[in-house]
Amino acid sequence: MHSFLNRLGIDGELPGGSLGHDAWVGSGDTIASVDPATQEEIARVRLVTQEEYDTLATASVRAFKEWRDVPAPKRGEVVLDIGTALREKKKDLGRLVSLEMGKILPEGEGEVQEAIDVAAFAAGLSRQLYGRTMGSERPDHRLYEQWHPLGPVGIITAFNFPVAVWGWNALIALVCGDTTLWKPSTKVPLCAIAVQQIVNGVLEEHGAPHGVSCLACGTGREIGARMSADRRLPLISATGSVRMGRTLSQAVSARLGRALLELGGNNAAIVTPSADLGQAIRAIVFGAVGTAGQRCTSLRRLIVHEDIKEGVVARIIGAYRSLTLGHPLEKGTSMGPLIDGQAVSAMMAALDEAGEQGGTILYGGTHLRGSFVTPAVVEVPGNVPIVMQETFAPILYVMSYTEIEEALQMHNEVPQGLASAIFSNTLTETELFLSTRGSDCGIVNVNASTSGAEIGGAFGGEKDTGGGREAGSDAWKAYMRRQTVTVNWSGALPLSQGIDFPD
Ligand code: NAD
Repeated sequence: MHSFLNRLGIDGELPGGSLGHDAWVGSGDTIASVDPATQEEIARVRLVTQEEYDTLATASVRAFKEWRDVPAPKRGEVVLDIGTALREKKKDLGRLVSLEMGKILPEGEGEVQEAIDVAAFAAGLSRQLYGRTMGSERPDHRLYEQWHPLGPVGIITAFNFPVAVWGWNALIALVCGDTTLWKPSTKVPLCAIAVQQIVNGVLEEHGAPHGVSCLACGTGREIGARMSADRRLPLISATGSVRMGRTLSQAVSARLGRALLELGGNNAAIVTPSADLGQAIRAIVFGAVGTAGQRCTSLRRLIVHEDIKEGVVARIIGAYRSLTLGHPLEKGTSMGPLIDGQAVSAMMAALDEAGEQGGTILYGGTHLRGSFVTPAVVEVPGNVPIVMQETFAPILYVMSYTEIEEALQMHNEVPQGLASAIFSNTLTETELFLSTRGSDCGIVNVNASTSGAEIGGAFGGEKDTGGGREAGSDAWKAYMRRQTVTVNWSGALPLSQGIDFPD
């Protein structure tokens, strides 16, 4: 038993639902959370039943009626304190992320830092939920817009960012005056329980009612589907695969709810002859191998100019050879395991398909043991069918181009539109990439990896990635309802568009 688990209150068998301090539920099926590196059980979690979900949703609705009236800057103070509490537990929580999800420790801690950063951003935002004032066309009229809290927000998260994605959503939603109901991935329930315990403590200190922040560990098929159809949740913010997004968005739109979707990516980098190759190779390797290729922004496709392809590939393979595969908590490990056996099978199946579609494995792609694999570099003749899909594993497909326009065409050909990068020191190439004819993704980087976004910008992507935006910039607007207000203080009743309605 790791002592940090004790400090996080993770031990034995835990209830997977909570509506606040000392208010936990969970009497459904029991699942085991395992360390993907060793397959050893860490702890067990009792999922919530449908009835318990109902209790949580009801509490969320009830708490909303109080929370929405707390002044926004006061809500900001609460969220800032959540950030401080997360900072106090950063090392322990970072270790839990590594242990349960399998990303290496610096990435585990980095993920907690992301949530801390969002808390600071959200606290500042609490004094900046600005509406605009417009000039009215009618005399002595005031026309403006204001933003009100939306309601209980359903948050559904993927396994690969078990803390940060909750933070992007919940901390912004709380500042906006919404209550939150979080369904994490059943692959990483312990991170969610640890976060919930921390948040419960802060909310209790501030005297917030039960229901402001709720947790409902359950499967996508049961609890996720229930949330999608639940009219009490005006917004469902869902992070996960394109397949999940398609199913979920149909259920949400059937009840005319709002869905904020953060789905799969198929991210590419273009490397041009003027690139600083030292910089590019480091960014490519981090992008493709970081989190064992299990980031939505992981680099999956490398589009490299034909004149430099051989050298670039040789340097990438050189870097791959020096990677240290091992337990994510061990110092010096650069790549941990995949999340589970299913992920390993999906990677092996994709490599087989790539072979059938004209691809050649240049390096790696072997199943070592358990959920450990060697990252693969695969040369392909272009965007063959398997390349058009997101395989959530460390496979880097390499293809070459002659003219930059051709590279752009290959870049934008895939159905997903999340993150993109160009490595070049030629202004005309980088500006083309950023222009209307350039990358069609939500995240566009010049001389920086596809992976590793900052929280200050709005995060999300186009096309099959779902169109949602989260975290920074004005992403908060999705969590509020907008009102356009007209105040007539003229004493008369002039109509807009100059309409003269007969008396
Ligand atoms: P997944 O789609 O299997 O599951 C994601 C979440 O959705 C889980 O909580 C799951 O229980 C739930 N779910 C599944 N089916 C559902 C349904 N029918 N209704 C409601 N909820 C349902 O994804 P995953 O394997 O956990 O995560 C990997 C995927 O997530 C990748 O495709 C990755 O690109 C994507 N992702 C995207 C972003 C982003 O910001 N764009 C961030 C992280 C991960």
